[in-house]
Amino acid sequence: MPKPAAQPRHDLRQQPHATDPPGHGLPSPKEIERDLEQYLSKKYGERVKVMSQILTPQPQRPDEPEAGPATGPGLLRDFALKPEELVAYLDEYVVRQDEAKAILATKICTHFNRLRRALADPKRAGRERGRIKSNVLLIGPTGVGKTFLIKLIADKLGVPFVKGDATKFSETGYVGGDVEDLVRELVERAGGDLEAAQHGIIYIDEIDKIAASRNLIGPDVSRTGVQRALLKPMEETEVDLRVPHDPIAQLEALERYRATGKRERRTVNTRDILFIMSGAFADLDDIIRKRLGSQAIGFASPMRARREQPDLCREVRAEDLHAYGFESEFIGRLPVIAVFDPLSEGDLFVILKNPNSSVVASKKQDFLAYGIRLLFEDEALQELARRAQAEGTGARGLVRVVESVLLPFEKRLPSTDIRFLVASAALVYAPQAQLQALLGDPAVRTGHERRYQELLASQRQELVAFLRERSGPYLESQGLPLSAPRLELMAARCQEDLLDTRAVCDRWLELARAVHDCEPAITERCGMQVVFGEDAVDAILATWPQGPEEIQALVTRLGQAYEYGLRLISHKKGWPRIVIPAAGVTEPAAFINELVDRTFHTQD
Ligand code: ADP
Repeated sequence: MPKPAAQPRHDLRQQPHATDPPGHGLPSPKEIERDLEQYLSKKYGERVKVMSQILTPQPQRPDEPEAGPATGPGLLRDFALKPEELVAYLDEYVVRQDEAKAILATKICTHFNRLRRALADPKRAGRERGRIKSNVLLIGPTGVGKTFLIKLIADKLGVPFVKGDATKFSETGYVGGDVEDLVRELVERAGGDLEAAQHGIIYIDEIDKIAASRNLIGPDVSRTGVQRALLKPMEETEVDLRVPHDPIAQLEALERYRATGKRERRTVNTRDILFIMSGAFADLDDIIRKRLGSQAIGFASPMRARREQPDLCREVRAEDLHAYGFESEFIGRLPVIAVFDPLSEGDLFVILKNPNSSVVASKKQDFLAYGIRLLFEDEALQELARRAQAEGTGARGLVRVVESVLLPFEKRLPSTDIRFLVASAALVYAPQAQLQALLGDPAVRTGHERRYQELLASQRQELVAFLRERSGPYLESQGLPLSAPRLELMAARCQEDLLDTRAVCDRWLELARAVHDCEPAITERCGMQVVFGEDAVDAILATWPQGPEEIQALVTRLGQAYEYGLRLISHKKGWPRIVIPAAGVTEPAAFINELVDRTFHTQD
């Protein structure tokens, strides 16, 4: 059928239709034009003029979807994650922060499980009015994993996530506008899916900067003003997706109206959006210490309070946050508090050693972009951790120190035919000298290649141990038994493709399922039930197929190879079922010939 001719987006020739519905509060094209002109002249000066376009509604095209709120992909309806599963996932990436992981995983899982139940039974949702949302306050210094943890959770849950900065709220001068911008950004992140956006996560950093200043005499109007402006969105409010006073947005709205003939009201309700606030709260411990000290009078020694100092923030109470400069209503909307630990030099080393460390993985990717394989020796990572620790910005310093050491190599090596680089302690201490040696001395270059291979083998064993310990329970819970050869294959895959362990596990699960999904077709072809054994599944996955289609093609070829032999065995011997071993995948013809041989030979 021929497609209807595409309508020009703005047809200058069109005249307004006599039966157009009145404006319903939308600005007229003339008003839009004026707004646009003002906007553009502010931005580009008087040189820019707006050419008028007259916009009229057009009948909806049959191939266009109905306009209106988009519905989510049903992710939330299938939500079934349990807190401990989420903690296990986070453990694969985040070093330390056990308490924060436990609190966040539990409260966020509960939040989304409640939403799922409410979606399944809207009557119950009605009864849940007045519930308290588990908005969260994160307390901890910079670079200790606050954002990282929340991002990981949002990714795992498949919910949209945006991050904003509370300091911007006070600077812009139009209090309250910014958090609405974040809600709109959430819609963008959700690809325009309003339902998904309404179940998203908004993260606001530097929240401690909107505490009323304690040095001022009298109330700090602007900062408490920002706190107040956040109260409604944190609980429930409708956010208009059209930015007020933005002529472009107005124009888009009018354009949508022209295209669909419908005047849609696009708002997002923040009732189910989870708000996560975070900050370093630099001298909060002084306030807590003071409170504990005054409580201690008469029954506990001040010594005890001092001994507990490193964990003082864990003792935080609403009254301390109030003393810090937060209004009670604001504190009341943050019922969950998670305190993050500062990271030691040892922790930074463990972060770099973690096979899922994005710092190391992203540096390896940078080099791989030029076909260069990079590995780090432990001693190099120790020195990098030491330097990052000296910067005092937690794990954030890691990226910088790794960059500064490897930059000369990243610049020079792509123009050479060197394909292996080992970042050793010597390289970290004297990058230029090591670079010159690598470029000038063939023996150094051979040494790098040899050392690379040794490291690859030893790091593979570390990966195997990591996979067994951290990913094992997850894989087994998904019905994928672990064996030493399987772990080796997975570890090799992590190294080869620079994938993190969870990505390899999920891919493995997906592809293993795809293999089993092919069994009914091959069963029908061969006249007996055909099941692939675990080692056969691994033999198929060892070829690292790109996706289920490739697996289907491969299994179809295997089926062709087995068909004659298996039909014969089924017919003559009445076998109901066969479990295919690895050899049936690697050498299908030899396997089936031998099987037939053995079966009929035994009978003789
Ligand atoms: P902040 O606590 O200031 O929000 P981030 O979470 O943004 O810090 O940390 C910056 C980066 O440092 C993260 O993207 C992550 O790569 C790394 N990182 C920080 N903390 C940890 C941690 N505890 N475990 C593993 N990596 C971490």
